[in-house]
Amino acid sequence: MDHYRSKRERMVAEQIAARGIRDSRVLDAMRRVPREEFVRRLSRSSAYEDHPLAIASGQTISQPYIVALTVEAALVDERSHVLDVGTGSGYGAAVLAEIVADVVSIERHPELANGAREVLERLGYSTVSVVTGDGTLGWPDAAPYDAIVVAAAAARVPGPWLEQLKDGGRLVMPVGTPGFGQRLQRITLGPGRVPRADDLGGVTFVPLIGAYGIGSPLFEEN
Ligand code: SAM
Repeated sequence: MDHYRSKRERMVAEQIAARGIRDSRVLDAMRRVPREEFVRRLSRSSAYEDHPLAIASGQTISQPYIVALTVEAALVDERSHVLDVGTGSGYGAAVLAEIVADVVSIERHPELANGAREVLERLGYSTVSVVTGDGTLGWPDAAPYDAIVVAAAAARVPGPWLEQLKDGGRLVMPVGTPGFGQRLQRITLGPGRVPRADDLGGVTFVPLIGAYGIGSPLFEEN
């Protein structure tokens, strides 16, 4: 077994399965995606450690367990069409792509979007489309989605996301403001498209910046 593969196996056993992630599709996806390809060269030896790591543009690649928790909570399968908000390194999009039919992944920093597109293409993740833009507006061109997963925190749910979910669709996002605590929530569009929230625990994410993000006047009115 190669060096990184054995690190991946250990990560899944000790950080992910041990914390209660049970969905075999998620565990298998985490076993397959070469996380070392999504981090800076200097961070490769730390790629499977139990914490986020710095990437370009002052952003982070999320802790592996949080990626697994988010993807499991989105209740996706091989037919799912998913919007991933906050591409960052592209790692989360790759984990999703191991499970679902296709992924649109949106990132506001062009440098990160370009880097993620390059590594995803190189690794053969042909079902992921990386786009650059303000993910708080969703990506209406490819809507509606079975699930929207978000890797940056907002104090409230951007309206466009609920509009772009299918009936029964799931939105998994960190809700809260920096410094005041954030909770990972799953919001499900139930009968009559009435949203219902499930709390998945405390998390720490970078802020969602954009028209419906932290600090925006639109968001205050929203
Ligand atoms: N899923 C990523 C990964 O696997 O590396 C995690 C990236 S990081 C925790 C969150 C990302 O959200 C950052 O790259 C940040 O630039 C991005 N972001 C913040 N606000 C955004 C917005 N309105 N639209 C798109 N991306 C946004």
